[in-house]
Amino acid sequence: HGAAGNATEGKADELLGGLLAPGMDRRSCRSRYESWRYFKHFPYAPSRHLLRALRAYEARHRRCAPGTPLYAEAVEMLRSGRRGSAAAECRYVVWLPFDGLGNRMLSMASGFLYALLTGRVFLVALPPDSADLFCEPFPGTTWLLPHQDFPVANLFGLGVSPEASYTTLLNNKKIAAVVDDDDDTAASNATAAPAYVYLSLGWQLTDRLFFCGEHQRAIGKVSWLLLYSDLYFAPSLYAVTVEFRDELRRLFPEKEAASHLLLRYLLHPSNPVWGLVTRYYHSYLAPATRRIGVQIRMFGFGSIPVDDMYNQILACSRQERILPETDDGDGDAAAAAADTDTGGKTTAILIASLYADYYERLRARYYEHAAASGKSGGVWVGVFQPTHEERQATESLAHNQRALAEVYLLSFSEELLTSGMSTFGYVSSSLAGVRPTILLTAHGHKVPKPPCRRAASMEPCNLTPPRGVECRARPVDGDGEEDDLARHVRTCEDDGDGVKFF
Ligand code: GDP
Repeated sequence: HGAAGNATEGKADELLGGLLAPGMDRRSCRSRYESWRYFKHFPYAPSRHLLRALRAYEARHRRCAPGTPLYAEAVEMLRSGRRGSAAAECRYVVWLPFDGLGNRMLSMASGFLYALLTGRVFLVALPPDSADLFCEPFPGTTWLLPHQDFPVANLFGLGVSPEASYTTLLNNKKIAAVVDDDDDTAASNATAAPAYVYLSLGWQLTDRLFFCGEHQRAIGKVSWLLLYSDLYFAPSLYAVTVEFRDELRRLFPEKEAASHLLLRYLLHPSNPVWGLVTRYYHSYLAPATRRIGVQIRMFGFGSIPVDDMYNQILACSRQERILPETDDGDGDAAAAAADTDTGGKTTAILIASLYADYYERLRARYYEHAAASGKSGGVWVGVFQPTHEERQATESLAHNQRALAEVYLLSFSEELLTSGMSTFGYVSSSLAGVRPTILLTAHGHKVPKPPCRRAASMEPCNLTPPRGVECRARPVDGDGEEDDLARHVRTCEDDGDGVKFF
């Protein structure tokens, strides 16, 4: 694992070691060809199996995408509720928006991974608030679902348990689990697969049976899946079936690389967002020799006063030696400075937060006190914050563009200090290829001790994994499988209920 240091990292090229397919129009998506110049870490090269799987995926996508005869046929099948030849050739996962930008990016990565694992085509239904955020990721085709003409009505307002949700269909005997091959024939004789299934996999996890092998076999027969999720559910796919597990092993021999590679492959900021990112970067961050991204998110359920949060940041920084210490008579400062020896270097601290408070305090700190110099000279510290939006406004495209720009600016840091349980922070770390230091959440509004923990991997946490689901088909059979699972999936540093790859 070379994730934390530079020494073992490979050199990047603009197509990220073949991760990105060549031959796309540079001007229509500048970030796709330029982002490699900004990322500081390239910890994992894509496996050959991943490269093969992506190229095969792209070919399938071109065959089945909107605008093709096969797509027209599949939509017609959905409209009429009939099954037909297209069912076998092209099957789809349609991603639906749910929750904030970080949540959306993570459920996109998970949905795309699920499409890779199951031979499906991944399409996105984007409302106006997301219309100009990301570039087309696949060469020579589109991932946009023409949702105005889609036979399912009210696509953005179906919520957690519409009639077509998997559990409702099960309860109404419109679909049945497939445990073994006898079931298989019985099931297909009794009921034809429904024309589409809605998968409610958000934090309420209404359709948690999705994570059972016997239900995957039933879902596999359905041509259209509508995915409603705000989670990074990739780690929870590992134990669903032997096929998923084996394929995940081949795609990502190092599990920690999964979201890092998926996000860098799939999500490229559109030109307007890239303009925000690059203008800001060159004006404020590029002149420094080192960038530290600090992402502060305060949830209602874990809110504490600004001063307490600020002290938590400082305590964490001291514990993990992240921000430069100051010469303010603080006994620890000189020692810390001697240790980290940032002599002659300049540091840019990039703050991402809805509020200006932490920026103001940190800026004042380095204005009023000199940063403790290392053995070999002065230390220059700049503190920057692009926006302070005050409140989440996911319904606004311009707000989301600024949020996305900040995610990318954070991801161009050498080091990251992020907030626990925040998908905004998770995405930044994965994109950056950095194991962040994570500020723990103030549950019960009590300042947490310790203030933070170093993450064991750059992977996002699945904050709501399936628990207490009784699968009839044992997820993964055989001796040592529990050990294998424990080697790849662990409890999150910042959330005892969550799980992550490491
Ligand atoms: P999470 O709630 O922390 O898991 O992250 P999400 O991205 O899913 O939702 C939070 C939303 O609030 C973001 O998408 C933004 O719209 C807004 N937001 C939160 N923190 C920031 C920030 O630091 N900068 C900006 N520009 N927006 C933020």
